[in-house]
Amino acid sequence: MTTDTILLTGISGFIAKHVALELLGAGYRVRGTVRTPEKAAEVQATLAGQGAPVDRLDIVEADLLAEAGWDSACQGCRFVVHTASPFPMVQPRDRFALVPAARQGTLRVIGAARKAGVERVVMTSSIVAIYQGHEGRADSRYTEADWTNTDSASVGAYAVSKTVAEKAAWEAARDAGLELAVINPAFVLGPLLDADIGTSATLVAMMMRGRLPIVPNVSFGIVDVRDVARAHLAAMVTEGAAGHRFILSAGTRSLMEIGRHLVDADPSLRRRVPRFVLPDIAVRAAARVSAQAKLVVPELGRAKEMVSDPARDSLAIVFRPPEEAIAATARSLRALGIVR
Ligand code: NDP
Repeated sequence: MTTDTILLTGISGFIAKHVALELLGAGYRVRGTVRTPEKAAEVQATLAGQGAPVDRLDIVEADLLAEAGWDSACQGCRFVVHTASPFPMVQPRDRFALVPAARQGTLRVIGAARKAGVERVVMTSSIVAIYQGHEGRADSRYTEADWTNTDSASVGAYAVSKTVAEKAAWEAARDAGLELAVINPAFVLGPLLDADIGTSATLVAMMMRGRLPIVPNVSFGIVDVRDVARAHLAAMVTEGAAGHRFILSAGTRSLMEIGRHLVDADPSLRRRVPRFVLPDIAVRAAARVSAQAKLVVPELGRAKEMVSDPARDSLAIVFRPPEEAIAATARSLRALGIVR
């Protein structure tokens, strides 16, 4: 049994609660950060409800937008797992609106980690820091060597925030002589642990409620949250993981295919899931007036291969198939009474 303490930023998040289960299950002490005391109580209750040993969990307050709390949060921690970052369902029009929390917040976390003598930081970035803004590119295969081109006007506020935050993290970690490993997940689905469903499961909930009868012709990589959690732990302790970015994608599915997998998992959803594909021309027309539609245009009909071999080979991740992640999301949305 290890007595190491891990700082887990943003412990109230969908992914972070699964990371907390992994860390507590592996015997670590976990110090999670939240923005409000109400969230602390919710997280405690959720993790206790999953049977986690919450006697090894403590929760402190810190906001990425402020200095207060980060130095003391890092004190005595061997590792930091930095998942906190804004992930809004609707993207702000201002492409730089999320940068203060994402980038400056990350710099605060890394600065505090350096002062506290933390050994390694594992940061949750995203595949949106890898593949966006390369419209003219013929090759659709992306690896850890690729970076989103934030100069492209097609890249929205969320992807800008993730890209600049990750770049800043690499630079700050190098300057501080701190080990850094980065996890770049695709779209994360899988079991929800409580009713705080977050952005990614909201899409599935909308499909299950029949709110998306028509969808654009877009596809994206999917990964199960349980595999994402394991990858964070592996990146924290695997010797050669520092200095690397790990793309996590179990496979690519279109929105229509996600709907079909939902019906496979729950045939009663047949009449609710998406049934029609919106012609690309209609999406392009909508993009003239809708900022959200504009973000979809570069994705139309474009299947990307997100190379996840380093996660398989170096972190020993055996990915659950996307179908399993989709079915688990649906089951938990029902079980929690979020979708009836
Ligand atoms: P959630 O929205 O569930 O979690 C985000 C977490 O960040 C919450 O704990 C939230 O706190 C916290 N947070 C947001 N803004 C601040 C702030 N100013 N100060 C402190 N904490 C803040 O999202 P996910 O769990 O899905 O995402 C977690 C991470 O994974 C993010 O970095 C996201 O970019 C990344 N990611 C997610 C993917 C997905 O499909 N879900 C895919 C790829 C990457 P609060 O509860 O108070 O809002």
